Amino acid sequence: MRVAMIGTGYVGLVSGACFADFGHHVTCIDKNAEKIEILRSGGVPIYEPGLDLLVERNMREGRLDFATDLIEAVREADVVFIAVGTPSRRGDGHADISYVYAAAEEIAKVMDGFTVVVTKSTVPVGTGDEVERVIHKTRPDAEFAVVSNPEFLREGAAIEDFKRPDRVVVGVEHDRARDVMRELYRPLFLNEAPILFTERRTSELIKYAANAFLAMKITFINEISDLCEALGADVQQVARGIGLDNRIGKKFLNAGPGYGGSCFPKDTVALSRTAQEAGSPVRLVETTIDINDKRKEAMAERIVKACGGSVDGKSIAVLGLTFKPNTDDMREAPSLDIIPALQKQGAKIRAYDPAGRVEAKKLLDGVTFEAGPYLCADAADALVIVTEWNEFRALDLDHLRSTLKHPVIVDLRNIYEPEEMRAAGFEYISVGRPG
Ligand code: NAD
Repeated sequence: MRVAMIGTGYVGLVSGACFADFGHHVTCIDKNAEKIEILRSGGVPIYEPGLDLLVERNMREGRLDFATDLIEAVREADVVFIAVGTPSRRGDGHADISYVYAAAEEIAKVMDGFTVVVTKSTVPVGTGDEVERVIHKTRPDAEFAVVSNPEFLREGAAIEDFKRPDRVVVGVEHDRARDVMRELYRPLFLNEAPILFTERRTSELIKYAANAFLAMKITFINEISDLCEALGADVQQVARGIGLDNRIGKKFLNAGPGYGGSCFPKDTVALSRTAQEAGSPVRLVETTIDINDKRKEAMAERIVKACGGSVDGKSIAVLGLTFKPNTDDMREAPSLDIIPALQKQGAKIRAYDPAGRVEAKKLLDGVTFEAGPYLCADAADALVIVTEWNEFRALDLDHLRSTLKHPVIVDLRNIYEPEEMRAAGFEYISVGRPG
């Protein structure tokens, strides 16, 4: 099959490369000429484990190519995916779907023969109806069907998630388009991945409901972790104790500095706006958003307290800047709230992140970026672990203690054991565990 992928970001590039690996011919298109140039010359513009090899192999075997212009690829395509961004709209928090509609119009102008147009971007319920209207208005003669196929991959494990998904959701109300989607995902049918066919609006809502649920689960354990601190209990053990119950499940029960990233913050807000306008508010989600926003402020205060009540003039070493490990994505990362809050109180920040430096530099002012954890810790008054990259899990504690000016560690991801850290001579503050 021939596939055109409009939008070559975290989702478009991974999905495009994986569809090519399934044996389809894929052209990934992006308006950002710099991105396409990097890809054409054998590079990968984002950090995602394994993606460089996957892209290289499929380019070499002639199944994957890149373009800034969609005309040729869309004309030849059986399936055109829209995988452009849907950020929060300024002012009201609704998803900004103008990029989706702009892409739909461009596709409509050039499509040729029966074409399945699939929204992979996360879009509010009813967007598929509007995409259909835009295409029909632009090209009344076009033969097409609009399908919803939200993406559930996680950055950092995106290829594995795409190739071995918990499920694939396809919202389609057109028989021929359903057959095309079945053919496209045939390798996953053979792997017995659950493929759920629904109506289009239901599929659109599944994506938001899934993200909102996960955001609530994280926020729940964060609140329980505060309660653990107040009552002298251990949140790690509470999480294990509840997570072993299959009805609850173990994942997304790690207490931390609050969720961030390119999806949960914007999708929870967009869902709550949609629900309010539909006259059916989702109050659990609204409360989740509020708790999560406040949590990031509370994390900065936790660091100030660990520094004896003031960070004015102090040097704070921050390990990990991205919103989670194994990505260079800085969108809505907790570090973007925590660091400026500390700077506002007079702290000097030195930071290290294994992959996020380039993106972080664009978003954080006045931060000194270091090349490794020990350089970062050098003569610092406290060290804060904000993102749990693997390379922070086994630091040389003796070296670290002798490098820091004061042996204070604030671990917002609970990657060390309190007793071990105290035995190693640190004042160690973590999340939701007895102090
Ligand atoms: P991204 O910002 O990384 O990529 C979007 C790309 O689309 C950009 O490179 C942009 O230049 C390009 N683009 C915009 N308009 C275009 C047009 N008309 N023609 C060609 N290119 C165009 O975004 P992303 O993180 O890949 O997210 C894409 C969508 O997938 C969003 O709706 C997001 O919510 C959803 N999603 C993201 C993730 C994730 O982990 N990042 C996971 C699941 C779903």
